[in-house]
Amino acid sequence: MRYAVLSDIHGNLEALNSVMEHLALERIDRYFCLGDVVGYGANPSECLNRLIEIKALIVAGNHDYACLGKLQISWFNNSAREAVIWTRGQLGFSELDNLRKLPLTATEGAFTLVHGSLKRPQRFEYIHDAAQAIDSIRVCKTQVCLVGHTHVPVLFEYDKQKRLITRVMTRSEELKEVSVLLKGSAFGYVINPGSVGQPRDGDPRASYAVFDTEHNLLRICRAEYDISTAQEKIRETGLPSFLADRLAIGR
Ligand code: ZN
Repeated sequence: MRYAVLSDIHGNLEALNSVMEHLALERIDRYFCLGDVVGYGANPSECLNRLIEIKALIVAGNHDYACLGKLQISWFNNSAREAVIWTRGQLGFSELDNLRKLPLTATEGAFTLVHGSLKRPQRFEYIHDAAQAIDSIRVCKTQVCLVGHTHVPVLFEYDKQKRLITRVMTRSEELKEVSVLLKGSAFGYVINPGSVGQPRDGDPRASYAVFDTEHNLLRICRAEYDISTAQEKIRETGLPSFLADRLAIGR
């Protein structure tokens, strides 16, 4: 099976369209989305509808929850809070209904999907370091735990028998093609594909992953997209211009 893994699209339709164009050449069997479909970007409804159209398996992110009123916006910083309020006003009845249906976690094949940490999914905690990754691997019932939330691509590999982290990969060069041991292996993984709509690792290109379970191969790919159109649309909404500016620097 060939899986596409998308996360943190954040209403950025230009980025999502570009990623989908790249994926059209990849013979993808199944799409996963790790949450934060909406928030920050100017096209929340269009992004959500596109994912529904391709029958993606989607879990909820903190921005999706906040738009539904399931998470207090006092947890958010000023610009994120403004974005939540604006986004809420953009979503129609059917989109809100679709967001409401999203689970906090989902499992399919070798994969468990969650937005933040799997230890306490409802708290949307970040996985920045190896200790936090181990916490999620320990409670993960499948071999791979797919996470988003930080907007930074990373792979943690953990040897469950020896109880030690065997690989941490953050550089795009090494993440371009990683062999990953599935079936029958003693390794557990936490993998973050990075963010489609608001990358924060210093590379402004949209980030996503392709997982080929037949060849035990993971690729974290980058796609250029029309950043200036995405920025222009955010500025037109009247949201803080910082949300548009940051797209150009990937921070
Ligand atoms: Zn996010």
